[in-house]
Amino acid sequence: MMRQYMEVRRGLPANTLLLFRLGDFYEMFEEDAELGSRLLGITLTQRNGIPMAGIPYHAADTYINKFLEQNQKVAICDQMEPPQPGKIVRRALSRILSPGTTLEDHHLDSRHHHFILALNWHDGALHGAWMDLTTAEFQIGSENRVADLTPVLSSLAPREIVVPEVGYLNWSNADQMGNEYALLAQLFENRPVTEVPDYHFDPISGGQTVLDALKVLSLEGFGVEKDHPALGAAGALVTYATENLCARPENLTSLKLYRSQENLLLDPTTLSNLEVFRSASGARDGSLLDALDATVTAAGARLLEGYLAGPDTNRNEIERRQNVVGEFLESPGFAAELHDYLKCVRDLQRIVGRLQNRIRNPRELGAIRDTLRQIPFVFEILSAFDCPAVQALQARLLEFPHLRKRLDEALDEDLPSLLHEGGYIRDGYDSELDRLRSLTRENKTWIANLERKEQTRTGIRNLRIRYNTAFGYFIQITKSNLHLVPENYIRRQTMVNAERFYTEELKAREGEILNAEEKSIAREEELFRDLVAAILKDAPELVTTARALAEIDLFVGWSKLAREWDYCRPEVTGESALEIKQGRHPVVEQMMRKERFGLAGTHAFVPNDAYLDGSTEQIALITGPNMAGKSTYIRQVALIVLMAHIGCWAPAKSCRIGTVDRIFSRVGATDELARGNSTFMVEMNETANIINNATSSSLIILDEIGRGTSTYDGLSIAWAVVEHLHGNGDSGPRTLFATHYHELTQLERQLPRVRNYRVSVKEWNDEIIFVRQVVKGSADKSYGIQVARLAGLPPSVISRAKDILAKLEADDSSHNLLRKRLNRIKHAEESGESLSQLEMF
Ligand code: ADP
Repeated sequence: MMRQYMEVRRGLPANTLLLFRLGDFYEMFEEDAELGSRLLGITLTQRNGIPMAGIPYHAADTYINKFLEQNQKVAICDQMEPPQPGKIVRRALSRILSPGTTLEDHHLDSRHHHFILALNWHDGALHGAWMDLTTAEFQIGSENRVADLTPVLSSLAPREIVVPEVGYLNWSNADQMGNEYALLAQLFENRPVTEVPDYHFDPISGGQTVLDALKVLSLEGFGVEKDHPALGAAGALVTYATENLCARPENLTSLKLYRSQENLLLDPTTLSNLEVFRSASGARDGSLLDALDATVTAAGARLLEGYLAGPDTNRNEIERRQNVVGEFLESPGFAAELHDYLKCVRDLQRIVGRLQNRIRNPRELGAIRDTLRQIPFVFEILSAFDCPAVQALQARLLEFPHLRKRLDEALDEDLPSLLHEGGYIRDGYDSELDRLRSLTRENKTWIANLERKEQTRTGIRNLRIRYNTAFGYFIQITKSNLHLVPENYIRRQTMVNAERFYTEELKAREGEILNAEEKSIAREEELFRDLVAAILKDAPELVTTARALAEIDLFVGWSKLAREWDYCRPEVTGESALEIKQGRHPVVEQMMRKERFGLAGTHAFVPNDAYLDGSTEQIALITGPNMAGKSTYIRQVALIVLMAHIGCWAPAKSCRIGTVDRIFSRVGATDELARGNSTFMVEMNETANIINNATSSSLIILDEIGRGTSTYDGLSIAWAVVEHLHGNGDSGPRTLFATHYHELTQLERQLPRVRNYRVSVKEWNDEIIFVRQVVKGSADKSYGIQVARLAGLPPSVISRAKDILAKLEADDSSHNLLRKRLNRIKHAEESGESLSQLEMF
């Protein structure tokens, strides 16, 4: 057996731990045992000097999950035949599980995609291929600039990255890449990286590997040229998946070419600033994704995630989605009914993918049957709509009447999750199975009768006939009754409190019973395989249908959202004007209502207008005290633009959105509490990235840029950035710039496309009242720097700070701003006036 073990072990790729099936356990040996016991926190034992650690077969999934969570790859070696006395069982590697290639339900988050990415740098360009093996989504892309490919890659949040083994992060020209290199490093951060031999990335053989996997003769149908440079990465992915599945992935059917110019790009920093997939705390809760998710199926939730990862700039597609949402919004009754049916729809895409890749269990066939039962209802409701977009969606739904009938007839209502214990095919479906089952039933009755007969004959009332796998059927007699045992009982085993016996009669029958049972299970498995074959015949159509169902789910969800929160349909145009009337922040608005005990109508989010236009009102400078609502305002504009691009309706009275190629969002360093001490450097790096990559179709959201350094440094940088974004031409990227540097508002007079706005506040009885309204003009007051006093610093510190300030000011006569502030404080103290809270801000 150890020889068998060594053979399998030798063939494994590096950093892979082997789980070797031994009876009811998966065992690890030697170094694997040491590593495994440490990662899982289980006991390490020894046998003949060999370190061993084992996990029970039935609980293996939980342990395997723990490995994958710690980015540990595991190879599974299974028993390929039932154990027989005196013979070593045949074993073979059945698959290798890695964080990016696992398919099992237990290892996946049903509402998230599960991407694996392969990446290489070749001929001065970055090439990527990414695949969700669970749903067979497969895409490639090549870009000369890293900044054009990393946005989509970070949005996909790959679970694992495959790279050529020659130092992937020492890309030969890392120095020249400079800023771009930092973007890559960000993508790789905290992700497991698997290195594979360089030649796996060869584009020529990669092209062939992809053709074979997709079972096609040419990639032209997918719009991919046969020598596309990203086919190297695609080939490397297919090879890696094949190695891990121990067979070619059977569910891949298409390849899509990613073109950055067809998408609205959001780089990783923007995604996190705008809290698109995760809120600042790292949770899904509080993110845009969560706020827009009113789906009832896992596939619907994943589709939303996919839309947000690759927002479209194709207006036809945007309008198609908007049209469907609009139809559902107008017919809330039908929409609600659709969701009721969709609630019973299961994850067809992933289930079919598992069946294709040989992971099979009866319960999942039941899930397909349950889903097929819903389709006619969904189909019927869609017929009521007189809208081409809905009809096109309906046309993608197929009903599979034959398959459904067959599954209905074949499968029991309640199904087990294990295949090899039988008990899932309906009585009456197959006469052979019925015959075997009735034999088994008869035998069981025979055993029950025998038990009663023996109880009477021996007078032992607690005599029992039992079964176990090691000894088969036996008669169990407690110790106190042993003197009553008849002569024809033959002793089989002695227990603490009882003895076990058999009789010739029982033994003869046992063979027959086991035989019938075995045959009946084998027959069920045969029928199961036929059902799987029937399903797989329809696999492509099932997957198309599943995608259509996911869209219906998402659009119904959006229509509910639009109704509940009074969203409008954005008018998406090819012009540069961006006009929002009474816009709201989709997430803050929802949170505010939740905080107010979920009472509708009691939320108090103050709506605001916005207008930007690249050639007239290009840059909006927003001033106002801390806490006034500047950040919320500029983010809400970005989020509304993003929502418009995914086809969702938006939180506003009306909006007209000129398509955007990129959204950049940066937050000044001091707001980024969690990012260590080089924050200013990071901020400047990111600002450089915007300046290098923004085009006149971009949207830029800058929040307190330049705050991470001394006042005058910061002000100068902020000033220069605004000047640069404005440029000398006649248009530039649409920009919202929130700042507390009042000096910047002078720019309105110097640069024709800059506009000043302020978030107004009111003073009342020395108190500051935030009215959260954005109006034209600059803030009319310099709001003091006395936050320290507000925060409860002792008076001695405050007064010492003032002295220092006075001294600094005397040293540098150019510090007018500081002097003004100090004078204001002095004046207040001398005249006995108490400083308003407003000024302290
Ligand atoms: P600033 O960036 O000016 O410091 P924020 O945008 O962080 O201010 O907003 C401060 C607080 O005000 C936030 O807690 C937010 O929930 C609330 N807020 C912001 N804008 C609005 C609004 N339009 N309506 C209601 N509350 C708002």
